[in-house]
Amino acid sequence: MDSVYAIPLHNRFRGITVREGVLLRGAAGWGEFCPFADYSDVESAPWLAAAVEASEVGWPAPVRDRIEVNTTVPVVSPERAHELVAASGCRTAKVKVADPRSSLVDDCDRVAAVRSALGPGGSIRVDANTAWDVDTAVKSIRELDRAAGGLEYVEQPCPSIEELAAVRRQVDVRIAADESIRRAEDPLKVAVAGAADVAVIKVTPLGGVRRALEVAEACGLPCVVSSAVETSVGLAAGLALAGALPSLDFACGLGTRSLLTGDVTSAELSPVDGWLPVLRTAPEPDLLASVTAPPEVRERWLERLGRVRAVAGL
Ligand SMILES: [Mg+2]
Repeated sequence: MDSVYAIPLHNRFRGITVREGVLLRGAAGWGEFCPFADYSDVESAPWLAAAVEASEVGWPAPVRDRIEVNTTVPVVSPERAHELVAASGCRTAKVKVADPRSSLVDDCDRVAAVRSALGPGGSIRVDANTAWDVDTAVKSIRELDRAAGGLEYVEQPCPSIEELAAVRRQVDVRIAADESIRRAEDPLKVAVAGAADVAVIKVTPLGGVRRALEVAEACGLPCVVSSAVETSVGLAAGLALAGALPSLDFACGLGTRSLLTGDVTSAELSPVDGWLPVLRTAPEPDLLASVTAPPEVRERWLERLGRVRAVAGL
């Protein structure tokens, strides 16, 4: 039986305050179908393919049994950023920059506070989520790199592949492609080589672990696996992907369990000292009951699931 959940978030994310989705149970275990509300049925089809792979097929065998993860620093004061990073136990921090609520000076102050929390051995990456044009990106990246005492990479500074390539030619910091891959019409055909040094890949928008492994191979870049803010059921798929990649050079963005106020299992996939095990989890009935969506939400999701099943032929 499909279970629809609704779990409040600690902080607003992508304009939402409650994460919703459907957990599917099949012969191979549980899968999670949770496209964001603004995704069309067509865009949601790969999310369903990922959930069906998890529940009906299962995943390829991993080549490693634990994954290092980054902590994420939202738009907060430098003091709060320092606290969050110090409390995380992670050696890598991803800092959100170029947000409308924050100036470049604020971003530099926050990044400097993160460096002081991590110490010289830590790694700092920033994510601009396509906010800059080329000139703004070049200027901002140079300043942030200075404030950070060295950046590991900058995620998606500009919207297009061409702009990423132009920025990459002008800065010494690595460029990571995220939206360029995730929103591509055919992620297998995105020519990110030359425009990026790192690829951010996510199981759900790419249509499952196997498909994401194909995308990783096709793009030919070192990959970072990120979540879509799922419960521990969905996070397990990201861990399966990170566990199965032939090589893994960077910490992954899978330490997102703490963004949700609850979970469907007591075997939560929350990092310990910055690491997560490559494990599958299953919902527990009492916890599942505690996050069960109200009837109108359940109805909306089951209708959506039916429409996307029709579109995807699944
Ligand atoms: Mg990103």
